[in-house]
Amino acid sequence: MAKIAVLDNNMVNMIAAGEVIERPASVVKEMLENSIDAGASKISVYVEEGGQKLITITDNGCGMSAEDIPTAFAPHATSKIRTVEDLAAIRSMGFRGEALASIASVAQVRVVSRERDSISAASLSIDCGQIGEVTPCSSDYGTTFEVRNIFYKLPARRKFLRTVNTEMGYITEHFTRIALAHNSIEMSLSHNKRQLFHLTAGQNTLERIGELFSRDIEDSLMMVSGQEKDLNVRAFISRPGVSKINNKLQYIFLNGRYIRDKFISHAIKEAYRGFIEPNKFPIAFIFIQMPFDAYDVNVHPTKTEIRFDNPNFVHSQILAVMREKLMGTNVEINASLPVREVDRSPLDEILSRVQDDREQRVTDAMESFFKHNKPASQPHFDFKPFTGGGSSGAPASPRRVSGSYRFEQSGFEPSKDLDLPQPQQYSDKTADYLQVHDTYIVVQTEQGFEIIDQHALHERIIYEQLYSRICAEEAGPLQSQRLLIPETLDVTAAEAELIEANRDVFKQLGITAEQFGPGTYAVQSFPTMLKDVNPAQFLRDVIDVISESGIKPDREKLVHHILDMASCKAAIKAGKKLSAGEIDHLLEERRQTPRCGRCPHGRPTSIQFTLKDLEKQFKRTGF
Ligand code: ADP
Ligand code: MG
Repeated sequence: MAKIAVLDNNMVNMIAAGEVIERPASVVKEMLENSIDAGASKISVYVEEGGQKLITITDNGCGMSAEDIPTAFAPHATSKIRTVEDLAAIRSMGFRGEALASIASVAQVRVVSRERDSISAASLSIDCGQIGEVTPCSSDYGTTFEVRNIFYKLPARRKFLRTVNTEMGYITEHFTRIALAHNSIEMSLSHNKRQLFHLTAGQNTLERIGELFSRDIEDSLMMVSGQEKDLNVRAFISRPGVSKINNKLQYIFLNGRYIRDKFISHAIKEAYRGFIEPNKFPIAFIFIQMPFDAYDVNVHPTKTEIRFDNPNFVHSQILAVMREKLMGTNVEINASLPVREVDRSPLDEILSRVQDDREQRVTDAMESFFKHNKPASQPHFDFKPFTGGGSSGAPASPRRVSGSYRFEQSGFEPSKDLDLPQPQQYSDKTADYLQVHDTYIVVQTEQGFEIIDQHALHERIIYEQLYSRICAEEAGPLQSQRLLIPETLDVTAAEAELIEANRDVFKQLGITAEQFGPGTYAVQSFPTMLKDVNPAQFLRDVIDVISESGIKPDREKLVHHILDMASCKAAIKAGKKLSAGEIDHLLEERRQTPRCGRCPHGRPTSIQFTLKDLEKQFKRTGF
């Protein structure tokens, strides 16, 4: 007897549904895309119990005729493409004709639709593939889909679903992606009778970002744009110094479609090299327009992965547009004291402006400065050159501000005449200064005073020293010393290959590592300048950085990566008490170091305060 049989259509759909319909959020995504393809200018989404109980999507798009409605649910049924030529340049969100068939095979679906020029609407119900009758009914033009009890006949799939909140999180994410790319459409999302978003038509992109995320995020962004050949890039990216611990706030859209692409992610990361810490992520909303035939979206059922004909061009163009803006952005920070009446504002309002621990400590430093404006501890001249490392205790923990002042940072804007601030002139070489909280150095300047972040400044100084040594014309390798006991680390075959491939770069930096046995390498020598850095750990971090990007960095990028890491690790830490001699030395090195207004990761190394600001402030407060 024959053992092989062709599966019936419903089985085929159920299996196919596994690819496109993973969870309730997939239904929302597919339906929203259909509404957009239908030309809707208004779409509302209503969800109950994280979408497991009910998802209703209503649009005012072109609608479907009574005749078309049942066909729409057939597998591979679409109105969007017809020929092979169409497939080569897809303009619509959908084209595979499988979403409705898949959804209707795993849930109870009811659709009501009416075309614009039709006098009545038609409705149809399908229960897990059991199709009902098309019946006339009355309704506004457009289409409404109701999807109930998803996976109710598939306990294995249902079990896989998470809590209501988690599922709702996925739904919100898909809603957000579509809403960001289509700001001409009015869109709303409600859950269990509570409205989460109501986005009006025609908002600009930045306003939508503000509504979908937060006003703070909106305020942290700057716009960049550029056009090269057929490629147009418009993006909202975070100012230098603003960063996140993951890449969740990176959204890439290609001709209105949300995509994920490792080349573009890499370009974002690369653009911010030197502007944020290596393990942090910038915020980026990138909108790319390019000819529909310059890439292929038919790579994956969910259509979030695409294949560019020329990924290198896309990479370099996005990198160039972002980098140009970042390089032209003045990240020196001038603290400006507010002129308006603020002093009786509640503490919490002050604290809401304090974005993180670091800024909190600057505030503490301010307070301390006001309270004890006297020189630091008696100088004891036990000068020794900075070789970094060693922290003497943890930095002061953040503390609430008890004073009645606050300050805002206002210096992130590019200076209008592009006249970047000059380094401060010190009134006296052995300047008045004090170290506060073993982390900041407060220095008197001609115009007022400034607060220096000792770690950030030292990091920049080391970076520049290493860089100039490596880039000097006739520079040999960095001075290194052989380790008495080689430091070993375990590596995979791919990582070993990576070490071999970059052997000359490591050598230039004074690092040699040899194979020590199967799956093990030993660091034999290491730069003298980094004597307090653990060699094996350092090499491990370098390998992780290179392999994580997935793209072979060129020599220059690799050197920058390594310098970044080296200077961060070797710089004096926050929380280290410095002697007067050490502070003198640091300030002297600062005078001799170019570009020391910010650390290699883009954070400022100092914040300036002017006497004028202080005077204004004190007069208003009647002190
Ligand atoms: P695809 O979007 O890939 O064409 P779908 O299964 O998602 O496939 O939808 C099948 C067809 O149903 C679409 O091509 C379209 O003609 C019709 N359709 C689906 N949703 C809507 C809608 N909201 N308004 C009008 N037509 C729709
Ligand atoms: Mg579709």
